[in-house]
Amino acid sequence: MGEITEDQWAAATGALRTAVAADDRILLVCHVTPDGDALGSMLAVGQALRKLGATRVQATFPGPSDLPAPFVALPGLELLVDSPEAPALMVTLDAAAESRLGSYAELLGRVPSIVLDHHASYTGFGDLPLVDSGAAATAVVAAELIARLGVPLDRGIAECLYIGVITDTGSFKYALTTPAVHRLAADLLETGLDPGEISRRVFDTRPFGAVKLYGEVLGRAVLEPENRLVWSTASLADLERHQQAPYVLEGLIDGIRCAAEADVACLLKQVGPEEWSVSMRSRGSADVSRVAVALGGGGHRAAAGFTGRGTPAEIMDRIRDALGE
Ligand code: AMP
Ligand code: MN
Ligand code: MN
Repeated sequence: MGEITEDQWAAATGALRTAVAADDRILLVCHVTPDGDALGSMLAVGQALRKLGATRVQATFPGPSDLPAPFVALPGLELLVDSPEAPALMVTLDAAAESRLGSYAELLGRVPSIVLDHHASYTGFGDLPLVDSGAAATAVVAAELIARLGVPLDRGIAECLYIGVITDTGSFKYALTTPAVHRLAADLLETGLDPGEISRRVFDTRPFGAVKLYGEVLGRAVLEPENRLVWSTASLADLERHQQAPYVLEGLIDGIRCAAEADVACLLKQVGPEEWSVSMRSRGSADVSRVAVALGGGGHRAAAGFTGRGTPAEIMDRIRDALGE
């Protein structure tokens, strides 16, 4: 899956224009435990559809509905609902597999669906794909969709798109940060955004307890020079001891992946008694998306994840095996 064809753009924008003209119910769904790209691209598209005149747009995501603190001031949050009504058209965002949509995956096949995504591991679900594995973020695809729908950027839409872009490019650091991404960022900033304030709010504000927890997780990191692997764990007991919510662990992998002696970094974040959400990062030579897909997850070449069952030792064994294949 590479670029999006003109036919695909025409089919998706046509379906959206028809739905807006009829004021049909449109449901936007992003992936479980949404990040800045999932929420940002979803709320940007939602606001754009509202500006086109759609009054029955709802947005949602599976799983617990409480938002991490960095996202509680996002523009367009009024579109978010816990229990959406049955839509005439569904749009999924930043989800590469149906499993990332929880129970909303049941709507696929029942109502027409547009898929906005940028994962190499996109499984091909949905009716009208707008999937570009060369795009730095789903927000980049969303920005083009909004432009093709003829909706001018306003500050609210721009802030959501900007948060999507900075989340998935590591603030313009990663490989897919093309000149076009910088041009988009310039257009977004022109609407009056304050990049310093947004960055501080989204990435650089955590409770002190999270700082102490980071220290412990980094302190117990294990380096396996022979496997060029570095990894650590954060358990539910760790979160409990420091009175922290799971979202504070987002970004913690960045402190681990610095280790020069490793090509691959893993952080195992406990989500249940025998269940761990695994973040993987590669310096480039290893394809962690392949490993994640083999273990039931997905992602990109350099950043991927999956949910693993068992103990951290068992899960690390599986990762070593898959890396070796
Ligand atoms: P994270 O480590 O949570 O920042 O995620 C890195 C990348 O892996 C993102 O592109 C995610 O979409 C993908 N990813 C993480 N966890 C999963 C999972 N359980 N299933 C599929 N993709 C995942
Ligand atoms: Mn995401
Ligand atoms: Mn993304």
